[in-house]
Amino acid sequence: APWRARVLGPDGPVRQAVLRLLWLLPSYALALAMLGVAVRLDRAPAWAASTLSAYIVGGLLTFYGLLRCGWASRRREPTLAFQQVLFGAGAVVGAYALVPASRPLALEWLCLMLVFDMHRLQRHQVRRALLLTIWGLSLVVARELWLAHRHPGVTHHMVGALLNLGMASLALPLFVFVSGLARRLRHQSARQHRELQQALARRQALVVRDGLTHAYTRHHLQTLIDQEAARQRRTQRLFCLAMLDIDHFKQVNDVHGHAVGDAVLRAFTQLAQETIGPGRALGRWGGEEFLLLMPETPLPEALSTLQRLRTAMHKHDWSALAPGLQVSFSSGVSQHLPGERASTVIERADRALYQAKQAGRDRIKAAVDLPRALPREQRA
Ligand code: GH3
Ligand code: MG
Ligand code: MG
Repeated sequence: APWRARVLGPDGPVRQAVLRLLWLLPSYALALAMLGVAVRLDRAPAWAASTLSAYIVGGLLTFYGLLRCGWASRRREPTLAFQQVLFGAGAVVGAYALVPASRPLALEWLCLMLVFDMHRLQRHQVRRALLLTIWGLSLVVARELWLAHRHPGVTHHMVGALLNLGMASLALPLFVFVSGLARRLRHQSARQHRELQQALARRQALVVRDGLTHAYTRHHLQTLIDQEAARQRRTQRLFCLAMLDIDHFKQVNDVHGHAVGDAVLRAFTQLAQETIGPGRALGRWGGEEFLLLMPETPLPEALSTLQRLRTAMHKHDWSALAPGLQVSFSSGVSQHLPGERASTVIERADRALYQAKQAGRDRIKAAVDLPRALPREQRA
């Protein structure tokens, strides 16, 4: 509604701050009403009640103006919580001094104000507000003591005031201490929550990607392959699997060291990722063994993809990793047949890989032992 926007101001920090001030209005209205009643019952001088009322109404209007015009929203604490706590403490101390009937309520009132704004205040602001309040109360009590000294006989005011001051000096710091503890706990649990989330995200990343090569993990690739096999049952899409194994990798480790072996694995993965094209998934199946999933790919296209990778391997400057280093891979490729279990395709690719190794390595073999019709127990 338009009046809402006019009273509360634009959405965002301005409106939040104005709303917070409005939340406080009932308590101040109650205080004003009680002042009126106190005057009616002759428990407070009219001039004192008017002074306090003017202080409260003037202060609230000033705060409303500062918040509503947006001046406060440019500050670090856009609700002016600290200033308002000081203002409220001023009202309490004023009431304490001018309207003795309000004294039993003063402490509760202060605590309520601090609770309301505790999470918006910095620790030093809470301390400062407290010190100022206790100092103000002490002034009132000092005046009370002085009056009692001048007019012996009206001692009950003084005793009550002293007791109140003592309670305030005990209760308020304790209260601030406890709320400080609560704040620390809240921060601590928020930090732990953040750290847990980060650790979980790191864990999750490791479940999906291999830490060394950043290829998919065996676990994740297995999931992708299973999904693809399930999809094939619905859509009749073909897919191919290729098992890739780096040739004589043990020698790379033995001759050049394990660190160079690791670098070779990373470089191989990078080359493969650049070559295989979009939609394909490369996973690290074992130490230097990789499995490539090629959805919607007939066998000839799968073979040419691997040939591209083979050429890239030949062209790659491996001597940058270690002088005289040469790296090649062998591969067995197999096409999934309708209804076939994924593990069967993997086994076939593995056998083709073995044949590629037997035939002298650095070559790509298509699985030729395709069954004409699937035996019943191999159907999914
Ligand atoms: P082939 O051509 O028959 O595949 O011979 P190969 O030496 O590559 O095969 P083999 O299975 O005998 O050796 C594989 C080696 O890979 C043995 C193992 O120490 C090494 N390896 C496995 N994982 C890692 C790894 O993460 N980093 C390094 N640097 N080496 C690894
Ligand atoms: Mg090998
Ligand atoms: Mg191997």
